[in-house]
Amino acid sequence: MVKLLGNNACGHLGWVTRYCSICSRKLVIGSNAIYTCPKCGHTLNAYFCLADYNRLHGRCPYCKSELVPI
Ligand SMILES: [Zn+2]
Ligand SMILES: [Zn+2]
Repeated sequence: MVKLLGNNACGHLGWVTRYCSICSRKLVIGSNAIYTCPKCGHTLNAYFCLADYNRLHGRCPYCKSELVPI
């Protein structure tokens, strides 16, 4: 039996995790600040943590588009 109660503190659809494309840090949507590229976010799995977002000056390293927060 799997216990599912008492697990919806935020009312979200559940925790979705991504890994930063640069430092491979685990990022939890809804818990960590995550940025993605509107153009290559889906095709290249381009997700970035806040530290790398700042390091990239808010620009995608692949297509130079502006990154957007998830
Ligand atoms: Zn990172
Ligand atoms: Zn891009």
